[in-house]
Amino acid sequence: MLKIYTGSCHCGAVRFEAGIDLAQGTNKCNCSICSKSRAWFSFVPGQALRLLQGAEAQTEYRWTPPGKPEPFLHFFFCRTCGVRTYASGDHPSFGGLFYAIAIAALDEVDADELAAAPVQYIDGRHNRFDQAPEDTRLL
Ligand SMILES: [Zn+2]
Repeated sequence: MLKIYTGSCHCGAVRFEAGIDLAQGTNKCNCSICSKSRAWFSFVPGQALRLLQGAEAQTEYRWTPPGKPEPFLHFFFCRTCGVRTYASGDHPSFGGLFYAIAIAALDEVDADELAAAPVQYIDGRHNRFDQAPEDTRLL
């Protein structure tokens, strides 16, 4: 079921809300940046995210995986506390503008609801976004 969740960084400078259907699943990926940041995220379409506060408090890191058009992904985080809030991209293969919402940044999510959300594992390290990695133990 699509619900509106609020999220924030640790120091509270950045606040957002996002429409997410947790039953559609959350994602954990083994690509180089997801591994370093222990990313856990849900994809939502561009209109599903609303930044409520802190546009000026955020900064972004841009990364383009090898072989992808530039700039491919924008990873937003609070410049004070460093907490990642979401990433964005804009690509036809994803249906245009999309966000990857950081599940860990959501506030007041029901633990049972979150635990029941299926986790999809992605083998981004080998550019296989359609399959799970062989080893998911550390994701
Ligand atoms: Zn912050």
